Amino acid sequence: MQSSKTVRSSSLGSFNWNEYHNLERIHAWLDELQTMYPNNVKTVSIGRSNEGREIKGVIIDLKPGNRGNNPLTGMIEGGIHSREWISPATVTWIIKEFLTSDDPDTKFMAETFVWHIFPVINPDGYVYSFLNDRMWRKNRNLLYGTNCTTNDDLSNGIDLNRNFDYLWMTVGASSDPCTQTYAGPSPASEPETQAISNYLLSLKRTGNVLYYFAFHSYSQMTLIPYSHLSGIDVLQVTNYADLYEIAIRGAEKLTQKHGTNYQVGTSADILYSVSGSSFDWVKGVGDIPIVYLFELRDVGEYGFLLPPEQIIPNNEEIMACLVEMDRTTRELRYYSGGPSLYASLISIIMSAAFVTIVK
Ligand SMILES: [Zn+2]
Repeated sequence: MQSSKTVRSSSLGSFNWNEYHNLERIHAWLDELQTMYPNNVKTVSIGRSNEGREIKGVIIDLKPGNRGNNPLTGMIEGGIHSREWISPATVTWIIKEFLTSDDPDTKFMAETFVWHIFPVINPDGYVYSFLNDRMWRKNRNLLYGTNCTTNDDLSNGIDLNRNFDYLWMTVGASSDPCTQTYAGPSPASEPETQAISNYLLSLKRTGNVLYYFAFHSYSQMTLIPYSHLSGIDVLQVTNYADLYEIAIRGAEKLTQKHGTNYQVGTSADILYSVSGSSFDWVKGVGDIPIVYLFELRDVGEYGFLLPPEQIIPNNEEIMACLVEMDRTTRELRYYSGGPSLYASLISIIMSAAFVTIVK
């Protein structure tokens, strides 16, 4: 049984999710959105890559001019690893849903926050994965190249998700430029890393940044900071129990959509130990409360080469997950307002009425 409510448009403007799009198309679409929604969408460029490309995103504010001086804010990154094409395809879908969904909980999540959303934060690598090497992961900084024995030009580029200045080069990162996890010559050496770090810190100065989500593939996991902690040590994150509950409830909703299963935990517990990733930095240095890294479909059948037919189902289940996570975050009182506060007010009024009656 499919209600009309669950039938979603698979295009917005000139953009669709039937195939993977290159950087030029994605950036053109962001400009198009600004034209389509002049009061609610503004494109923003937060810096330039090694090769001079814009690190471009959109700011979505569905209630402009009505925010007070400390607006609830969320930030989303995609495409830090260029071969993980499903990541920008997911992040662009989230933009579409925030702008067009008539589902009440999605609308609430979209309207309550000012969203800063960056589909491709490693633009050079993304272009390279379309034009030269489909399996390219890192950025395209050529400065630290050495002669490698491998055939695939691994000597060029730095793994941006090991380059952030939080426990840099502690675990799961390499000082060897020939590896896929080369962390760079120093913490935050890369312009892409600096752009994200500086922008997040600037958002903190002007708003109440509650959310940061990073999208990767593959493995079907919701990862909680910090990526080097396992076992009992995960409790070094003071709100770990909340982060776990939020993620579990999201994953349950995700599974209800298309039967896909996601695991929840720290990377060290369920994937591998890592340091210097963007989302760990956002939690550890940025001190943002609700921070996750999603490893999207699948679990290895296609891996990075996820067929385009899976883009929309992947996106639908992630959206269901995010909305449930937002609802849970609200229930845990990270912010007030919305359906759950209304419901609790009603219950207070009802119980007061009940007390009056029994008296
Ligand atoms: Zn990745």
